[in-house]
Amino acid sequence: MLIFPSLRMNRIRLLSEHVANQIAAGEVIERPASVVKELVENSLDAKAARVTVEIQAGGRSLIRVSDDGAGMNRDDALLCLERHATSKIAKAEDLAAISTMGFRGEALPSIASVSRFTLTTRERDNPSPEGTQIIVNAGKIVDVKACGSAPGTTLEVRELFFNLPARRKFLRSQETETAHIQHYLTMAALAYPRVGFEFIKDTRLVWQLPAVKSENPLAAARERLRALYGDEPQLIAVDFTGELPKTETEVAEKSGESGKSDTFKIWGYIGAPGVSRATREDQHIFVNRRPVDNRGVNFALLEGYHTALMKGRYPVCCLFIELNPSEVDVNIHPAKREVKFHRETAVRQLVARAIREALLKINAPEEKQSGRARLLPSRHEPEPVTQTPDEHPVLPKLSPTLNNTPDTKPVFSTSAPLPLSQKTAVQPTVNTIPPPPEPQSLLQLPLRIIGVLGKVYVLLESPRGMVLLDQHAGHERVLFEQMLRRLESQGSAPSQRLLLPETIELSARDASFLREQLVCLTRLGIGLSEFGERTFLLDAVPPFVQVGNSRAFVIELIDELKAAGQQINSMRLGENLIAKTVCRHAVKAHDDLTVLELEKLLEEMRQCAFPYTCPHGRPTFIEMNFRELDKKFGRVV
Ligand code: ADP
Ligand code: MG
Repeated sequence: MLIFPSLRMNRIRLLSEHVANQIAAGEVIERPASVVKELVENSLDAKAARVTVEIQAGGRSLIRVSDDGAGMNRDDALLCLERHATSKIAKAEDLAAISTMGFRGEALPSIASVSRFTLTTRERDNPSPEGTQIIVNAGKIVDVKACGSAPGTTLEVRELFFNLPARRKFLRSQETETAHIQHYLTMAALAYPRVGFEFIKDTRLVWQLPAVKSENPLAAARERLRALYGDEPQLIAVDFTGELPKTETEVAEKSGESGKSDTFKIWGYIGAPGVSRATREDQHIFVNRRPVDNRGVNFALLEGYHTALMKGRYPVCCLFIELNPSEVDVNIHPAKREVKFHRETAVRQLVARAIREALLKINAPEEKQSGRARLLPSRHEPEPVTQTPDEHPVLPKLSPTLNNTPDTKPVFSTSAPLPLSQKTAVQPTVNTIPPPPEPQSLLQLPLRIIGVLGKVYVLLESPRGMVLLDQHAGHERVLFEQMLRRLESQGSAPSQRLLLPETIELSARDASFLREQLVCLTRLGIGLSEFGERTFLLDAVPPFVQVGNSRAFVIELIDELKAAGQQINSMRLGENLIAKTVCRHAVKAHDDLTVLELEKLLEEMRQCAFPYTCPHGRPTFIEMNFRELDKKFGRVV
């Protein structure tokens, strides 16, 4: 072959270690918070009991993380700065079941290549008081020396990205970077309540979270939540254990899997019905203690809340999923923020079920529980779950300013780090704070009807104070559940013939869409039949429905069903949607109700599975207790 001399120069060459590290840094180290994340994860992997994080200027000028963990000897300290140097995995198979936070062996060399970096470490189990200090400047080792040091490791990262001006320019304001750091630390502190955390910002102590002693993970998480956010009574506990069903191939193979556990656990806290936020900001989800983003789980949460959540709102939660590490792939994202479940559908179903059961427990006193559980808007029979008996929900409170909707207040205020920090700075040990008594579910209390305001709001008195019930929303909830219950037991809802059947003409598209929904509609008591190519006959509706304009009614049904899109098949959403639409046409919307009728409504609400929200997720009750009233009238401060 003829080779022209000018083309002979090789174009492909191996990058130097230094450049490779900087490229890796581009993936792993996006901003100061990524450095904090990597360093704190290393401390947690080193089994530290205490981690101190100190930052200056939003982490731009300094990030220092020190721990009392295992530490390293001199050789390991030198080695850990090499790319792909890790003590956490040894062979490719280990990747299939990772139980540590780290495993890629990339973080330290990456960080060191883009900063002025000092590692000081001393082995915890080595009696010699001598430690090792290594100074690295933009990836070049400048000094290695012996030094006196406490057992554990301290990593100091100064002037992040000083050698990459383009990256440094992209850093946001100090406040933004600090908020990201604090958000990550919140997640770490929630996932590791038995580790003490200290956070110092510009030499000021922001947090001092003592190590929680409790052995019970649920109790420990609650203590940590309290230490971080103060009392948060609007949360209810989730404690669910289930089994991941075997996949078909596994059943067929029946081998090699003997040691593998299929247990699936999910536990933690979720917002009571009516507590929600406009963003996912307060949705903290952990898989094997790693904070993660997983679309499937996010969706399952919404499914679990079902009608207890307003459209477009997101639940608040701090939930821990635990399953065999081999069931999760954490190696799909350089910063390990995303995970993939091998049995995604099963995980999703179990999450939704756990949430639903926790929410159903709220209004189900122990003795009635089994009967109630059948009202689940799902076809699954629930399995018994264990739950701490002292958990009761609290309703959204009437905010003291009266003009706020009850759920606009952030429940977890990670976005507002500063006021929160003041509250929790230098707290005494969390164990000494007595937990406040758990409030009872409102409908379990005696309620006295006082009157009706504006034909809509029923004023009630409870032993706790003042209660307002939206009679329309309450009635919608009752009808909705009755409808589903009848569907469940009889396969179809009651239906009343219209005296004057009406024909409705639709567009060709709407007509063909509607044709496919007819069976489902009939089951719900809506008598619609084909009457021509594009014409339908409406001759029956459920008994409580008042249809003023039949055409508008049918078109509304079509629109709702279309809007639900492909979700329709999941969890009978289609039926639920129809039921909701039907309920909107419910009688008694703004009717004058007698005291007897109101009593009956309350009693029917007591029979509901989710009485505290209407089928659209809006609150049915608002409560203002005597203490709040006293405060408003200036009787107490
Ligand atoms: P990875 O965490 O993926 O293993 P890193 O680059 O973050 O990779 O760390 C490399 C190695 O350095 C770790 O595997 C661990 O052995 C050691 N190491 C890092 N930080 C600490 C620490 N704080 N305490 C003890 N050992 C540490
Ligand atoms: Mg690491």
